[in-house]
Amino acid sequence: MSNKEQLWAAFAARHAEAVWQAAERREQVYRENPILLEMDRQITEAGSRYCVAMTKSGEAESAKAELEALQKKRADFLASIHADLEPHYRCEKCADTGMGPEGMCACFRRELIAENFRSSNLDQAACAQSLEDYDFSLFDAAPREGLLSPRDNMKKIHSLCRDYIAEFDRQSKSLLFVGATGLGKTYLSTAMAKALLDQGRSVIYLSAPELARRLEGARFKDEEGRLSQLFEADMLIVDDLGTEPRTAYTVGTLTDLMDQRIRLRRPMLFSTNLNLEGIQNAYDERIVSRLVGHFIYCYFYGDDLRIKAFKEGR
Ligand SMILES: [Zn+2]
Repeated sequence: MSNKEQLWAAFAARHAEAVWQAAERREQVYRENPILLEMDRQITEAGSRYCVAMTKSGEAESAKAELEALQKKRADFLASIHADLEPHYRCEKCADTGMGPEGMCACFRRELIAENFRSSNLDQAACAQSLEDYDFSLFDAAPREGLLSPRDNMKKIHSLCRDYIAEFDRQSKSLLFVGATGLGKTYLSTAMAKALLDQGRSVIYLSAPELARRLEGARFKDEEGRLSQLFEADMLIVDDLGTEPRTAYTVGTLTDLMDQRIRLRRPMLFSTNLNLEGIQNAYDERIVSRLVGHFIYCYFYGDDLRIKAFKEGR
């Protein structure tokens, strides 16, 4: 079950619990105050009389006054004994159903985002990383031979990523960040994860070794529940593809995972230090053909930002 489905079920149970508790309280109040049953009977009868009176001229007003007087008497009595008959919902707007007049209630959305964050595997520190305040000054502004400057290249990739997030849906293509270490691929991946989580999407973020460990672990013990998230999350982000230990089993399972996600139009974001040749050497033809056919390439180049920052004393 996806996080969203689990949360719908939790909300339904929460709503039912509040209604049930109110029914319990009501039963107790009626047990302790049998006069309420008599009051209810009188109100029902007065209601019937009012309905009949509405069809006859001149009688409706007095019948209405009688009904209202009885209702007030009952309300005053309930107030005098401090009776608490209404359900207590955590969210009064949606009565804990998760649905408001305009669709998903804000309370449901808030809990869904929090739940997606918890299951994303994303580091807490990464939650501060944002696509919005991206620092391009770290990148070299001098053009490379036949290429954009690293800074302009980064601006191009960043703009592609922002458009990607803005138009994200299940039709989105997948992304492949290619380039040496220290060029900001991981930063950008986590910022993408954060932006999608903020939209209420489910995201799984894993390093490639962690992904391989999970795939391998599922082979021997029942980790179906955890593994199903890899297939079902709106976005699967895998950092440092190529650094994981590879067995025929993990490569085969990774291929199945990619195939299923492609078929269900659920995108992936992979980053790797390998170039195309390295990818071809590391993986079999099946993975290479999927990476070529279904991923948008983003090529990162320039000087290692960490070394550069160190040299500049940042
Ligand atoms: Zn609500």
